[in-house]
Amino acid sequence: MLKIINLHVQIGNKKILNGINISINSGEIHAVMGPNGAGKTTLAMSLMGHPGYKKIDGEISINNKDIISLLPEERARIGLFVSFQQPIEISGVSFLSFLRTAHKALYPDIKIPLSQFKQSVINALKVVHLDENFMQRSINEGFSGGEKKRAEIVQLIILQPKFAILDEIDSGLDIDSLKIVAEAVIEVVKQQKVGILIITHYQRILHYLKPDKVHVLIDGQIKSTGTISLVKKIEKDGYAKI
Ligand code: ADP
Ligand code: MG
Repeated sequence: MLKIINLHVQIGNKKILNGINISINSGEIHAVMGPNGAGKTTLAMSLMGHPGYKKIDGEISINNKDIISLLPEERARIGLFVSFQQPIEISGVSFLSFLRTAHKALYPDIKIPLSQFKQSVINALKVVHLDENFMQRSINEGFSGGEKKRAEIVQLIILQPKFAILDEIDSGLDIDSLKIVAEAVIEVVKQQKVGILIITHYQRILHYLKPDKVHVLIDGQIKSTGTISLVKKIEKDGYAKI
């Protein structure tokens, strides 16, 4: 279980998160919805241990192991993964070599021959309908917005975390890509029993994913938690009523 208890976070002198409580079991999908500037990305970055986000109170644990004092790479090694709202481009590092290096760092005891690893990357690219030549290109360089988001899903498939935070994986996707990404996430949950925290402010992807719980984040606090019916209520009335 990924457990977030009473999490307070500030950036510089500005308090952004004001006591977040969320618990996610393996194989569950939780959605966090909220208006711009509510603190959604701050929550994602804080979970991963970004040094610019200062925890001032609260606990984060994975399977009862406190991860607050761990570095991002240590959090990754015990099974945490974040996909970026705005994936960065890295010139001169191929997507394949990045995935290979990341996989080796996460699983030093598992030796996979390069040819076999390549095949698993090709298979993962296929899942999100990306051509296999993407693995030879520099990470995200010249990728369209939608291709960047799909490349994040390829990482999710290859790196096999226990818990994944997907920060606006749906923004910038056309309706076909959205369906492809949603189906890939459903498959990962089913096959690998990953627990998912999906951050979004659109309901569309949630109709595919059918989250177990929906949390509404406003001004750094969870103001409401419910099921898909809460999404419908937000669609109808907006965040203001919540
Ligand atoms: P969301 O993802 O919900 O749109 P964010 O977590 O990105 O919101 O941002 C929450 C608040 O924190 C916003 O008011 C934003 O301007 C502020 N913020 C985010 N990053 C920084 C930063 N590096 N310095 C100062 N303020 C920031
Ligand atoms: Mg954001």
